[in-house]
Amino acid sequence: MTRVPLAALAALLVLASAAPPRPAGAAPYTFVLGIAQDGGIPQAGCRLSCCTSGRHERVARLAIVDPASRRWWLIDATPDFPSQLAAMAREAPACSLAGIFLTHAHIGHYTGLVHLGREVMGSRGMPVWAMPRMREFLATNGPWSQLVTLRNIELGSLAADSAITLGDSLHVTPFRVPHRDEYSETVGFRIASSRGSVTFLPDIDKWERWNRRIEEVVNGSSVAYLDGTFFDGAELSGRDMSEIPHPFITESLDRFATLPAATRARVRFIHLNHTNPALVKSSPERLRIERSGARVAAAGERVGL
Ligand SMILES: [Zn+2]
Ligand SMILES: [Zn+2]
Ligand SMILES: [Zn+2]
Repeated sequence: MTRVPLAALAALLVLASAAPPRPAGAAPYTFVLGIAQDGGIPQAGCRLSCCTSGRHERVARLAIVDPASRRWWLIDATPDFPSQLAAMAREAPACSLAGIFLTHAHIGHYTGLVHLGREVMGSRGMPVWAMPRMREFLATNGPWSQLVTLRNIELGSLAADSAITLGDSLHVTPFRVPHRDEYSETVGFRIASSRGSVTFLPDIDKWERWNRRIEEVVNGSSVAYLDGTFFDGAELSGRDMSEIPHPFITESLDRFATLPAATRARVRFIHLNHTNPALVKSSPERLRIERSGARVAAAGERVGL
């Protein structure tokens, strides 16, 4: 039996429990500002222990930080907009918000825009990039249209698979995915530099309904934040889950089982519903994800680009 010196073991434990390190120097990075589905945690009306225990998880959203240019950008404007902006003031105090990219018109992804209006921030010309139907929706429906007419926000055009350049080698590219598109298209985003890329895909119906293979998307990413809304089909009693389709985490794990371990390690599930048992550390469901090599995303984690 190999004896490990106590001091070395203690150092290892400290390393294992430390927060992920901030990327070195002035390189850009992504920062997770929340991991919950649109309703957040606690979710309104839920009287189960998932929402009455005092736990709080903000709605899924990603920030892109470029310390060199002292700017940062948001992907989605969630109902947790105020506390997420406060979190960014702590994370990147020298940087300021330079724009917002929107995935789609479900409440967890755009309603935080209300805080840009004159009742709160009174921002001037904040760039908000959106796909054509999403732009039309914002420009023609109050209260969003007031943000446009008062020039609190400046709508920028996104086109699928066409990159927006944020800096010398920093690009954001939207890609279309199938989802319940009542008011807008739905996109995911690929954030890329010359050093790596992060995929953010919080909402999609089912992997099989997409014309791209998720395995290839994961393979082409340094880290892929993927729809982990529900763990499996038994999660919501009293609701028809076919009306709110998402890839179950169990289905994703089955698909990814054939991938090399190094590729599986790039997967981080995000956008978890309050009922998702994988939210609970050391639950059998969480351990099953971790045994596969994937992870549940954590608020505050950074990925260097
Ligand atoms: Zn959502
Ligand atoms: Zn709940
Ligand atoms: Zn949605």
